[in-house]
Amino acid sequence: MIPFSPPRIDQKIIDEVVDTLKSGWITTGPKTKLFEKKLTAYAGHKTTLCVSSGSAGLELMLRWFGVGEGDEVILPAYTYCATANVIIHCGAKPVFVDVNESDFNISVKEIEKAITTKTKVIMPVDLAGFPCDYDEINSLVKKENISKLFIAKTKEQKSLGRILVLSDAAHSIGAKYKGIKTGSLTDISVYSFHAVKNITTAEGGAICLNLPEPFNNAEIYKDLNIKSLHGQTKDAYSKVKIGNWRYDIVEAGYKYNMTDVQASMGLVEIDRYDNNMIVKRKQIFDQYSKELLKYEWAKIPVYETPEKSSSYHAFLLRINGIDEEKRDKIIQSIFDKEVGVNVHFVPLPMMSFYKNLGYNIKDYPVSYKNYSCEISLPVYYNLSKENVQTVIKAVVESVEENI
Ligand SMILES: *Cc1c(COP(=O)(O)O)cnc(C)c1O
Repeated sequence: MIPFSPPRIDQKIIDEVVDTLKSGWITTGPKTKLFEKKLTAYAGHKTTLCVSSGSAGLELMLRWFGVGEGDEVILPAYTYCATANVIIHCGAKPVFVDVNESDFNISVKEIEKAITTKTKVIMPVDLAGFPCDYDEINSLVKKENISKLFIAKTKEQKSLGRILVLSDAAHSIGAKYKGIKTGSLTDISVYSFHAVKNITTAEGGAICLNLPEPFNNAEIYKDLNIKSLHGQTKDAYSKVKIGNWRYDIVEAGYKYNMTDVQASMGLVEIDRYDNNMIVKRKQIFDQYSKELLKYEWAKIPVYETPEKSSSYHAFLLRINGIDEEKRDKIIQSIFDKEVGVNVHFVPLPMMSFYKNLGYNIKDYPVSYKNYSCEISLPVYYNLSKENVQTVIKAVVESVEENI
């Protein structure tokens, strides 16, 4: 059986985790702080706060910006539920928009149509690791006729004076747009280090702060650090220093901190990410593309253009001319050949919870079309060239049996 996406757990990772366990300091401490510094240096944004998950990071930033009841947040219909669920948690309304047929990412034209006086945030998702059209999105929120619509309620909203661009970069650490890495491309970006992501800390996430003037990102980091730890003015690590026991609670904060056990995995991965993990993933993408291009039915995902390069997170193959039912049959045949594949993603308006709120997939025809013929192929560090050939053979045979 070729699994879909096992994590890379080698001796280096094990040694670093054991080192943390033996150190006696297992929750947020020096390794988390070091991982934050490395992430900032890696992607070039202003500062980083590590958190317990990508979802926690997204929600914390919506709360920080004061998103709540009566507000709208624009996001693609084609994403994982985390992007939308955090909006619901805040009491705001997710406004789904359709995506591009070409690259699965949010359509800037559709964003523009969806903006109202209630819009507070746009959450683009770098789907499968391919960056969105950030020049267009960043200039859209600054356009006079658009920023005029913005109604600022909180101090943060007044300082920004326009819609916030909070990018869901769960898939895209290491991806580039015009030479700049995700993390530095928008006001705020959030990475996920969930077990299936390019860098994993088992569970975990990071908030990349890159807010413009007049924001002081270092000050915001301090506030968020408190917000992510119950509103407590001192974290556990500073409290254990002799005599430093007294602290205050300044708000009813959250419990969103990353632990040093998690950070130790991330520390190993970030150091070898560009020269090792990314290289390997790109090789797998190239091998799939080269071999599958031979088939007329195969639609290869866009993962490199003169302006953009992917983080090669997921290979979203499409099969031309099939419907959802046929796609499901093909997936079953692939599974029967002992190869694990997946679908990224079932559009959220098709999920019961969102359907029951009144969203209808008919309003997102491109998302539906992309989804109904999509099959994600395995991509991970330990997938050998021979494994890739096995996957390709299983896919080709399964398509040809069913088409
Ligand atoms: C994985 C994922 C997230 C959430 O990350 P967690 O760390 O699991 O909370 C958010 N958005 C997308 C698109 C994802 O795939």
